[in-house]
Amino acid sequence: MQKPSGPQYPEYLLLLASWVVVIAFMAIYWAQALSTATRQTQLAEDLARRGIAQTSHALALQTETMLRKLDYVSEQLADDWLNKPHEAFRQAARHAQQALPEGAILNVGVSDAQGRFIFSALDPRPGTAISAVSMADREYFQAHFQTPRSPNHLHVGKPLLGRFSHEWAVVLSRPIDRDGERLGVLILSVSAKYLSRALSQVYTDPQDAALIVRSDGSYIARSHLIDQVLGKAVPLDRDFLQRPQQTHGQYLITAPIDGVERYYAWHRLPHYPLIVSVGISKAKALAPVTLAQQDAWRRNAIGSVVLVLMMLVVSHLRWKAARQATQLRVAHERMHLTLHSAHNGVWSWHGQGQAVEWDGGLCDMLEVPPADHQGVDGRRQTDWKAFVHPQDLPRLLQAWESYLTHPQDGVFTAEVRMRTGSGGIKWVAVRARAVERDAAGLPAWVVGTYTDITDRHAVDESLLIERKRLDVLLERFPGGVLMEDTADRVVLLNRVAMEWMGLSVPDKALIGLTHEQLLRRLDPQRAAWLSAAHPQERRESGTTLEVEGPAGRVLEIKRIEISDSDEPLGRVWLLYDITERKRRERHLTALASTDSLTGLPNRRSFMATLEHALGRAQSRPGTGCAVMMLDIDWFKQVNDTHGHPVGDAVLQELAARLRASLRQGDTAARLGGEEFAIVLEEMAPADALNKANAIRERIAALPFSTTAGDIRVTVSIGVALAAGRLLANDVLSTADQALYQAKQEGRNRVVLWRPTL
Ligand code: GH3
Ligand code: MG
Ligand code: MG
Repeated sequence: MQKPSGPQYPEYLLLLASWVVVIAFMAIYWAQALSTATRQTQLAEDLARRGIAQTSHALALQTETMLRKLDYVSEQLADDWLNKPHEAFRQAARHAQQALPEGAILNVGVSDAQGRFIFSALDPRPGTAISAVSMADREYFQAHFQTPRSPNHLHVGKPLLGRFSHEWAVVLSRPIDRDGERLGVLILSVSAKYLSRALSQVYTDPQDAALIVRSDGSYIARSHLIDQVLGKAVPLDRDFLQRPQQTHGQYLITAPIDGVERYYAWHRLPHYPLIVSVGISKAKALAPVTLAQQDAWRRNAIGSVVLVLMMLVVSHLRWKAARQATQLRVAHERMHLTLHSAHNGVWSWHGQGQAVEWDGGLCDMLEVPPADHQGVDGRRQTDWKAFVHPQDLPRLLQAWESYLTHPQDGVFTAEVRMRTGSGGIKWVAVRARAVERDAAGLPAWVVGTYTDITDRHAVDESLLIERKRLDVLLERFPGGVLMEDTADRVVLLNRVAMEWMGLSVPDKALIGLTHEQLLRRLDPQRAAWLSAAHPQERRESGTTLEVEGPAGRVLEIKRIEISDSDEPLGRVWLLYDITERKRRERHLTALASTDSLTGLPNRRSFMATLEHALGRAQSRPGTGCAVMMLDIDWFKQVNDTHGHPVGDAVLQELAARLRASLRQGDTAARLGGEEFAIVLEEMAPADALNKANAIRERIAALPFSTTAGDIRVTVSIGVALAAGRLLANDVLSTADQALYQAKQEGRNRVVLWRPTL
């Protein structure tokens, strides 16, 4: 079986190749588009350059024609100045002005050889020199009077602000010569504005420019912004200034005057020192191409983005499809494995009135030969009801009917017994799901499985029986049992434990509670039982606690950690009723420390009491404790005379009298035979003697009434006083010595122990 984890390798490669092809295609396409655009721009640029070259040429011819005309007019006027009377010259000057458009010629003037103005068309006074106005300093005047003398030709001056007209004028001047002598200069002041206007009428768009400059670069006219350029010159790096031999040329610059980048074409006039130049804005010239290209770029970009998006979508879909195919294959393989395992079979139901079909697996499972179920179209059909155990069939049919009519949850499940072909019985889990529904939403086609759960059922059943046994055991168990799992949740709690812990809820409600939740349901006293027996140290194998239970009972609570070879399984609390045991223990303890005849403490018990009394006396310096030893005098005779039972009665009576004579806290005991001892705490020596004598006198004074009549007995008493560090045995021994002394001295007396004894 393959290990399918994602799309297979060919899928990766196919997708990668698609992307490579698409990217390569787009790269080629964009390269092509770029080169086409460059070519188009080049073409548009060539076209624009050719256009302005032609225009500039035409403008050069036009300007040349205009200058020739003015040249001729100036020549005529110079001739008129020499040959005509003053008034006739004025007339001729006026005619000359009128021959050109109005405002073109601002003035006609004449100067003498010294530069003095001797005629101005603007001056009404004829024949007189025009006062102090001199043009000797003017460039155009000096051009005609330099040495060697210049030939007689028209001179085009730099634009000047007119002295009479107060307007910018381009001064055209020509010398007035007679018989080789230079008599003066004739001047035609042509309006610079007029020239510029003439240009701007042709080149109306301020993006374009047409200009006339002198060969030294001075502006003569410009189609736009004339006011800003008059009196100035073009920058020195201009093509026509750099190459004076060239008659025409082109250049591309951004005009400093208006910041517009233009293609310029220029022509030098053949007969005059002037250059005309025509410029067309680059942006404008290339606008149609640029617009078309921008449009194309936009469309291409959109196209590319769409293409990439489409590729992304296609890739995503392919990827998803590949993944789904893989998952489907995995699911299919899993299903195949699951369904065709030895314990499964598949069946399907195709609607009311249709037979149920079984697959081979199911036939194998129920040990039915497949041939027995061969249907018309090759599918195995079967009367499935015949295989269901008669006891389970009604239940199954009812569930099936209910599923067909109310299939809310979509899945049908049941567990039934089925008969096998060989006559055996198998437990089978039936699961089914509607894969097709009718218009009403009811199952129309159901596919299901049968799973052999015989083994599991057997296990379940034995588990059930085990559980029942355990429950019975727990109910009969004389103690309480509480068990928690490793997650501190209650798993077992028997009736006795509930009763002792004061819980009256149904035990099922307590199963599953956490330890903390359980504690909250108990009263504080009982909660403490489980808390105290639940130490933090979990490794501890167990603890035992004795507590007072309900109705005066004594309970022992054992907490035991349970584990299976180091694997913790939880813990159990066992609650035992130990009331009876405790009572017996107390009884045995009492028996061990009491004299059975008199009920007084015995020697062992007395010695322990004496040890305690001595300990207390030691911790309270200044006070002592007195010990008396008492023995009946001639007691043997009582026995001998009246019999042993009478002797016993005397012993009992004496014990009662001793008990009655003591203070609270003092102790009398029978050490053995007819020998008694008394310990008196916080007793001074004199008081101890007095007390002993009082006891002795009272015994001697009052006869003991017995079945044999009244009997008189006396006692001898030895008294020892204990102070400081003394052992019980030592104190008792000194008292015994004093008693011995009392007997020696004749009996029925008290002797206080002295060192001399
Ligand atoms: P003394 O002490 O004055 O020297 O004389 P005694 O006769 O009392 O001395 P002894 O110690 O010889 O006798 C003690 C007697 O006490 C002996 C025994 O028969 C008697 N006796 C001891 N225990 C019991 C008992 O439990 N019941 C009875 N009836 N007699 C007992
Ligand atoms: Mg004795
Ligand atoms: Mg005696």
